[in-house]
Amino acid sequence: MITRDIRLAVDCLNKNDVVGMPTETVYGLAGNAFSEQAVRRIFEVKQRPAFNPLIVHINSAADLDTVATDIPEAALLLTRHFWPGPLTIVLKKKSCVPDLVTAGKATVAVRVPDHPVALQLLASIAYPLAAPSANPFGTISPTTAGHVDRYFGNTIPCVLDGGPCRKGIESTIVGFGDDGLPVVLRLGSVTSEEIEAVAGALTVRNNAVTAPDAPGMLSRHYSPKTELVISDNPEKILDRYAGRKVGLLTFSERLPDRPALVQVVLSEKGDMNEAAAALYAALHELDQLSAEVIVTSLLPETGLGRAINDKLRRAAERE
Ligand code: AMP
Ligand code: MG
Repeated sequence: MITRDIRLAVDCLNKNDVVGMPTETVYGLAGNAFSEQAVRRIFEVKQRPAFNPLIVHINSAADLDTVATDIPEAALLLTRHFWPGPLTIVLKKKSCVPDLVTAGKATVAVRVPDHPVALQLLASIAYPLAAPSANPFGTISPTTAGHVDRYFGNTIPCVLDGGPCRKGIESTIVGFGDDGLPVVLRLGSVTSEEIEAVAGALTVRNNAVTAPDAPGMLSRHYSPKTELVISDNPEKILDRYAGRKVGLLTFSERLPDRPALVQVVLSEKGDMNEAAAALYAALHELDQLSAEVIVTSLLPETGLGRAINDKLRRAAERE
């Protein structure tokens, strides 16, 4: 059920059930982070492998020490600058955080979401919320309450509707080396350039695929059911599929119409923020066509373009 009733969501959470929660990045599948029962339910609903830890959402930076300890100076600097917002930091965990949440790791991933409904929900409960994206493991992330309802409408009691996600791609995840310096573990909504401007030189380890530090960085992720092909010459692929049903996803350029072609342009004016916000809804829409193939090309490899391209490459991986 899609609802705007925060009380209803709170009641479900207090019973150790899980609910759909809007954030500025993507919709989350939220449960009490201190309840093993709730956390187990998240993994079960999402069919997420137990080795893949969850992000813990807190109401404000002041709550950080309820879940984490030994916080490096650079982490505090980043929280002051980016919270509430789409930056997740990985810190030494406190023992009150169940091992299930962190997949047995000694660290916990934490952030303060920048969404009025998520913040109101967090302010109404006495515990943080563990919340991975509200999609079955490996599929396209949800950016509307309708997407979550389509995935889990029959499985979870409610999805809080907070409108379409403003950012539209996942949070950036940053860990800290032994030297206390930040390391990007997953590209996301906050660009490396923005983090560097605050915290200085940065290492990016986003592409670790076989033994990832952020195990969610599996090579196949964010994937539509339809085959997704990346090409720097999409017209050539379209020629190959002439007359058959095909989806086309472009950054800003609209290609000439063809029979049986459905085109989605992410941002006519070539704005990366607008493109990021539109990305997953576009993939959902094109995947619904049951086309033979979805063709796309990569964006410029700068700023948010890097994160968008990373999602597209993972979405295009075949098992
Ligand atoms: P999702 O919530 O679906 O966006 O996925 C959460 C991401 O956070 C996954 O990529 C996890 O691997 C990552 N993550 C969660 N906890 C940790 C941690 N302690 N260390 C590194 N990455 C983490
Ligand atoms: Mg996810």
